[in-house]
Amino acid sequence: MFPSVMPTYARADLAFEKGEGVYLFAADGRRYLDFASGVAVNALGHCHPRLVAALKTQADKLWHCSNLYRVPLQEKVAGRLCRHSFADTVFFCNSGAEAMEGVIKLMRKYHSHAGNPERWRVVVAEGAFHGRTLATLAAGGQEKHLKGFGPVMDGFDRVAFGNLDEMRRAIGPATAGILIEPVQGEGGVRAASPDYLRALRAIADEFGVLLAFDEVQTGNGRTGKLFAHEWAGITPDVLGTAKGLGGGFPLGAVLASEKAAAGMTAGTHGSTFGGNPLAMAVADAVLDELLSDGFLDHVQRMAEMLATAMDDLARRHPTIIEDRRGTGLLRGFKTRPLNGEVVEALAADGLLTVGAGDNVVRLVPPLVIEAAHIREAVEIMDRRFTSLAS
Ligand SMILES: *Cc1c(COP(=O)(O)O)cnc(C)c1O
Repeated sequence: MFPSVMPTYARADLAFEKGEGVYLFAADGRRYLDFASGVAVNALGHCHPRLVAALKTQADKLWHCSNLYRVPLQEKVAGRLCRHSFADTVFFCNSGAEAMEGVIKLMRKYHSHAGNPERWRVVVAEGAFHGRTLATLAAGGQEKHLKGFGPVMDGFDRVAFGNLDEMRRAIGPATAGILIEPVQGEGGVRAASPDYLRALRAIADEFGVLLAFDEVQTGNGRTGKLFAHEWAGITPDVLGTAKGLGGGFPLGAVLASEKAAAGMTAGTHGSTFGGNPLAMAVADAVLDELLSDGFLDHVQRMAEMLATAMDDLARRHPTIIEDRRGTGLLRGFKTRPLNGEVVEALAADGLLTVGAGDNVVRLVPPLVIEAAHIREAVEIMDRRFTSLAS
């Protein structure tokens, strides 16, 4: 019989009944250490008391009223995001792909609003992932995602990730902007160098095009800063984020400077559910935590500890690990065995990880992990890598 849930995922045969902090529990009571975080979504772990309380409190007041009206919680969350980033203004939506659609639309609108409608193309990188809508698929350009879905939407020019000569050559009179992930997540946990990001800023300024970052995965504290581009000491004109922003509640956002958003006037863009009170109440609570004293320092400390532990694992298991990469708590091993097999073996041992492109096993724990959780994960990996090697 055809599955009632459309079989678009290659799912592991695992189902969870509840979550608590950095652990997930299956129906049979078995406990799993969660270094997948719902693919970098559960930034504060599972059922964080502050998030649960915020959602329950809001559930008793108002769920949805649409963007026909003012939503004071949107104004509060947007204000907080602006105060703590480069942005002057925020558009709320419900997912990463939707955020990136908004980013692409904003880049085109910026130039048409400024009297240059011929500037509508976006330079993107090889190995990129921006989502599964028709436009974001075209931006990502992965053959395996595009196949069978008809003509690929026009408007994207692709260059090698990290190559500045190609970037300069790709920019022409039709270019609206540059779109890059500071760390390519799905593409295999490949971090752009700070120098590359700084040079992109300079190139965008030189040619009068917008610089856009996809921080759907790297944003919201994942790398130890609120947004990953902060490490390079530069700011984009616009970015899209999602994943960790709602801590597990579906939420995306487009953050932009006033200048970049000049064309985004009433009626130009919208979303029925975007920024509804439930999502906003949770996001406000997520920001309470992310912005609290010492939170990002904790992420940085845990990240260093994880990086050191991964170096050690790589040294001990050269037949399993080809290299290790990433930044903050977005890290990965490129493995010699198929990454899917490694992910499956670790899950059987009670450690959840995520595959990524380039045969990478991604480690994206909740940002609230402690040293003991890292030690527990390392013990599981150490044991399993030893048995895989023999
Ligand atoms: C996950 C992801 C997306 C897509 O987000 P969805 O919420 O699945 O639509 C886009 N860009 C990046 C970098 C991502 O990691």
